[in-house]
Amino acid sequence: GRSLGVFTSGGDAQGMNAALRAAVRMGIYLGCKVYLIYEGYQGMVDGGNNIQLATWATVSGIIGAGGTLIGSARCMDFKERPGRLRAAKNLISFGINNLVCIGGDGSLTGANLFKQEWSSLLDELTETKQITEEERENYSFLNIVGLVGSIDNDFCGTDMTIGADSALHRIIEAVDAIVTTAFSHQRCFVMEVMGRHCGYLALAAGLASDADWIMIPENPPEKGWEDKLCKRLALQRELGHRLNIVLIAEGAIDKEGKPISADYIKDIIKKRLKIDTRVTILGHVQRGGAASAFDRVLGTRMGAEAVLALMNATPDSEPVVISLNGNQTCRIPLMESVEKTKAVAKAMEDKDFLRAAELRGTS
Ligand code: ADP
Repeated sequence: GRSLGVFTSGGDAQGMNAALRAAVRMGIYLGCKVYLIYEGYQGMVDGGNNIQLATWATVSGIIGAGGTLIGSARCMDFKERPGRLRAAKNLISFGINNLVCIGGDGSLTGANLFKQEWSSLLDELTETKQITEEERENYSFLNIVGLVGSIDNDFCGTDMTIGADSALHRIIEAVDAIVTTAFSHQRCFVMEVMGRHCGYLALAAGLASDADWIMIPENPPEKGWEDKLCKRLALQRELGHRLNIVLIAEGAIDKEGKPISADYIKDIIKKRLKIDTRVTILGHVQRGGAASAFDRVLGTRMGAEAVLALMNATPDSEPVVISLNGNQTCRIPLMESVEKTKAVAKAMEDKDFLRAAELRGTS
């Protein structure tokens, strides 16, 4: 049987464990040896106890747990060739030349680079007698498949990333909780949610929670938006509402590209409407807690599909990312989608919203 390694890298997200579990079990089911690589690329570079053979039972009882059982890390060593050389040596010592990478666009970029470099890394390892000629022969190709874990839902080419739905649930729970206290004191709450280049969480949460106002980076408001906001909130009060909710993405900006902060909005409302207004920044709460049913199913489907894709990979096939397209799991070219995702982030930074929308639309 073949050997494969599974690791989680970059920021954690709910549903990563479901993906991990499915990849391990599909691998075992297909007769592979499956290794868990702990602490992302750092564990790959350091080797030793960071790489451990998984059994069916190793991944029992984790399907709903948030975070990642096997740890995640940012790893500087892997960004340099010597680090990747050590990683290659460690993988070969376990007979691993198939990898499932669960992470964001940074992690997938690293995986792609590793694959491209593999052959030259093996040459160096053979020349310096760190691996044998036979090992050089047996593991001459590295196959990689990517899964996107990200609560922001900011990856081009997939309808949903693993974790976004759970984060949305966490936000809705928080809004529901705030609403009861806001009602009692007739307050307004400005709630900031995550999303630097992508307003998915703010927009979806705003719709699902009946918010009065939503601000997302993709739709910077025209000059004078403060008047409109106040008019809207005042109208709600005239209609008899006892509270207001404003949802703002952390990356919200105005037409000039100036960041709009939750505090700024609070001050405006307080000053102009004399409504008792408070700010709540949700932060890492959104990344924590149990995975939603949707993310458990999504992670499971993607993890299983990732292993199937690895088994189908040939030496010259392009690496893929598993994506969700119209509720079907499918395989899309890894580098193309990573590059598109980076181009969207760049367009958002350049405030070229039309370009960002175009790039997203053709995902
Ligand atoms: P994410 O995967 O969530 O986008 P990062 O961008 O921090 O998170 O990437 C996670 C890790 O992936 C980095 O700490 C690094 O080890 C590796 N990585 C990212 N970009 C590269 C790259 N260009 N070359 C090699 N490794 C990379």
